[in-house]
Amino acid sequence: MEKNPTEDEVVQIVLDIKKSEPELGIAKLHARIKSLEPAWALSVNRLRSIMRSHSLTDVPLKGTTSLSGATIPEEFRDRLYVSETVSHLISDLSLPPLIEVFNSKQRGKGLQVSSKLPKPESIPEGAVLWTEPALVLIPPISLVGLIPTGKACSYCARPLVSMSSLIASCSTCSGRWCSTRCRKLDKLHKHIRHGKYTSEWGAIEQFAVENEWSAFYQYAYALAAVTFEDHDGGQSSKPIKEGVEGLAKIRQDIRQKADPQYKNNIFLGEELDILWQEGYKVLCKFFAHLSIPSYEEYLSGIGMVNINNLDGSIYLLQSHLNHSCEPSVDVKIVGRTAGVKVTAKRQLHPDEELTTTYVDLKKDVTFRRQKLLEGWGFWCTCSRCMREQDLTLRDDATGLSTKDNSDAKLTADAEDGSKKKKKAKSKSKQKMPEPARVRKKSVTFDDNVVQIEI
Ligand SMILES: [Zn+2]
Ligand SMILES: [Zn+2]
Ligand SMILES: [Zn+2]
Repeated sequence: MEKNPTEDEVVQIVLDIKKSEPELGIAKLHARIKSLEPAWALSVNRLRSIMRSHSLTDVPLKGTTSLSGATIPEEFRDRLYVSETVSHLISDLSLPPLIEVFNSKQRGKGLQVSSKLPKPESIPEGAVLWTEPALVLIPPISLVGLIPTGKACSYCARPLVSMSSLIASCSTCSGRWCSTRCRKLDKLHKHIRHGKYTSEWGAIEQFAVENEWSAFYQYAYALAAVTFEDHDGGQSSKPIKEGVEGLAKIRQDIRQKADPQYKNNIFLGEELDILWQEGYKVLCKFFAHLSIPSYEEYLSGIGMVNINNLDGSIYLLQSHLNHSCEPSVDVKIVGRTAGVKVTAKRQLHPDEELTTTYVDLKKDVTFRRQKLLEGWGFWCTCSRCMREQDLTLRDDATGLSTKDNSDAKLTADAEDGSKKKKKAKSKSKQKMPEPARVRKKSVTFDDNVVQIEI
């Protein structure tokens, strides 16, 4: 006898299945329900419409391993912004062997193991998948002041303390490089260190340093790299331009809205607006005779460096990796100019997605989710988050544990953090009471989780 299940029964079984298998698309989900409840008369269309009406979308958001709208607590729902992130596939992207790029509705752009692996048809744990230098190697703002006087390498920003015979000096200015290799790679030096607009570039550096605003400097630097590649290039291939254009972009003002401190406090929001506008003016003076980005492009650029940079620089292939709290690859920075090394964290199989982590994996599910929500605009429903969420709920229900994140360290805003923003954060900490259900503002922006071996 066939039975017509009620809407509630369908919702319940979907939630149950999604807990253990959050990745299932609608067809597989339907097949799974059929196998669990063979007597149910349930069409794919009815399943889809029930899921839609209960916000149990079958299309996960990019950057998450799945999405079940119902699992996102009310107070976080209007802060999701990942769907507003724009990302294009790069044509002619050169890929390492056995790695493919994909672009799916569910996951957006990402990398996966090739569907056809030579025997034994898996990649062993620890295998080096690729190494890559930065697409744009950007000096950290803490060192930019040393570059014009030759106290740090003009390209890699390595402080130059010794009188090493490897050091190369510029014949026009006081700038120096730690090696002839750095000198050769440094295409920006002649445009920003001497020439007509050196003082305008100096103003950009000064503004970034005074406001401790790394993202502003990173964006200006990347834009300069793209602009001068265009002007100098002459040839049809523009790898930096194509690479930067292919990175995921999100307007910084949209990202900011996900931060409740700015959303709920007009005064803090206005202060940040003023900082952005001041930065734009400084930027426009340098680019006035080149090509000026619109204010929207500028805000997108700031958002772009915030979501894509790794330790302050931009790596093209690495930036294609989506997040999981159980990542399948390890990313290590092996050196300023050598770049990053990406290795298999476990045995990898055909079609398996390559994932990295955007957050500190030692933190608990509440911390990780908040951090991912604020930094990248999605609510993580990876299998680890789902498992730990269930444990937390069970503990809460039994009163055994009311684990709060009070030991969660508030780290410095590594990349995004302008001085004003930091000040604003400390002010708002004093003025704004915590929303009752948010146990702890474990809020940090954009510090990167990498192991550095230099
Ligand atoms: Zn160097
Ligand atoms: Zn020079
Ligand atoms: Zn997760």
